[in-house]
Amino acid sequence: MLSRAFHVVIVGAGMAGVSAATRLRELGFAGDVTLVSQEDEAPYDRPPLSKQFLLDGDADAILLQPEALAVQAPADIELIRGNPVVALDARSRELKLRDGRELHWDRLVLATGARPRALPALARLPHAQTLRTLEDARAIRQTLMPGTRLLIVGGGPIGLELAAMGVQFDARVTLVEAADRLMTRSAPALIAEHLRRHHEDSGVDIRLGRSVVAVRDDGHAVFDDGACVAADLIVVGIGVQANDELAVQAGIASDDGIFVDGFGRTTTPDVFAIGDVTRQRNPITGRFERIETWSNAQGQARAVAAYLADPDSAAPYADTPWFWSDQGELRLQAAGAIAGDEQAVRGDPDSGRFSLIQWRDGRVVGVAAVNAARDFQMLKRLVAAGSRLRPEVLVDPKADLKSLVAAAAVSSTPA
Ligand code: FAD
Ligand code: NDP
Repeated sequence: MLSRAFHVVIVGAGMAGVSAATRLRELGFAGDVTLVSQEDEAPYDRPPLSKQFLLDGDADAILLQPEALAVQAPADIELIRGNPVVALDARSRELKLRDGRELHWDRLVLATGARPRALPALARLPHAQTLRTLEDARAIRQTLMPGTRLLIVGGGPIGLELAAMGVQFDARVTLVEAADRLMTRSAPALIAEHLRRHHEDSGVDIRLGRSVVAVRDDGHAVFDDGACVAADLIVVGIGVQANDELAVQAGIASDDGIFVDGFGRTTTPDVFAIGDVTRQRNPITGRFERIETWSNAQGQARAVAAYLADPDSAAPYADTPWFWSDQGELRLQAAGAIAGDEQAVRGDPDSGRFSLIQWRDGRVVGVAAVNAARDFQMLKRLVAAGSRLRPEVLVDPKADLKSLVAAAAVSSTPA
């Protein structure tokens, strides 16, 4: 492994930043690696914040790679906490931290993630908040208890995972979603409808096509149809915006997401970006998009680390986007496109275990599975391979997906 000794500074210690730093060391990179974190906390994993952490509050269980970042191994990765980068000069290759300290870098990796979009009607209300950080999750945990009147704004993964947790706490949960269905951004309509029924059967009061316009002094939220809902806690989950200010300031191309290629390269030499802050070409849609998933953060990080360690042997990142979402007894897993020109169901939705497969121009382009993890793993590979297997083949309950995947792999291998 080639590994010239230069200094890599990574800004942001979320999944993307930590993965890049640790991967550099795994690859034998010999230069200095500095990881700069805005948060005071030791780096942690976000998905549990809307899941297990709300139940057990165990912050140690969600630490990211503690062994690689241990203070007793300073030669490995230097971690600067609670001290965000406030200015970036791409020409002189300097950046400035909040405490005034300056750092020189040879290669810079921006892994600054995203932050929740705010809802002006709820700004500055003491009982309204978002869910992105450990601090947010701790605050929600403190308030959530039997009988808590929890109002959730937004019917995406954040809102629905939290709704399921609210039910587990015996809270009284209302969820308001502006669109006429749930999960508009990340799941097909049929799946969204299945989720809606599941949450309503669990006791969640779901209001579709509605939004919160005001909150009265007595804490009641007022919807656009005039309805009022009493709330002890309001959590807003209406999507995120990229933390791309440093890039914009340095003249790096960004449009609510820093444009990168498969090696994480930005439009400025030796400046890279990875994770939620980026906008990359989605291999399924062909469009430049933000892919806001845990697996993407890791995949891009590994590709950038490989490129930094040895550009000649590195391969560009082009994995099929996928995510999972745990919502009470449901585990949703989805990969690729959420819509095509043809779709078919494998399994029986009434049994609670099924997959919805999408085709476009005869190719398998997407799958969303509910409590069907094994089928999902196989179907995801068919999406990645752009399989031309027909709906009647894939929905046949007797079809052995494993052999079909093996055959697809053989047929897509270049001669
Ligand atoms: P982030 O995790 O946002 O990390 C970026 C870090 O950079 C932050 O710590 C931020 O404070 C820091 N930073 C920002 N600006 C600066 C600066 N100027 N200087 C220094 N540091 C800075 N995905 C899934 O696929 N499945 C799930 O089940 C799932 N569940 C989730 C649950 C929750 C509650 C949340 C919030 C997200 C979830 N996700 C899930 C999404 C997944 O966690 C993200 O895609 C992933 O964390 C992105 O990692 P990242 O490192 O790019 O960004
Ligand atoms: P999403 O963008 O996925 O969902 C937000 C939802 O809120 C959309 O359906 C949106 O509708 C709706 N909405 C927007 N404005 C309003 C409004 N004023 N009133 C009511 N509803 C509104 O984001 P989330 O906030 O759910 O998630 C934030 C981030 O966390 C994302 O990056 C996500 O990927 C990540 N995450 C991922 C998880 C997972 O993959 N399991 C779990 C939790 C979080 P419309 O689309 O029409 O604007």
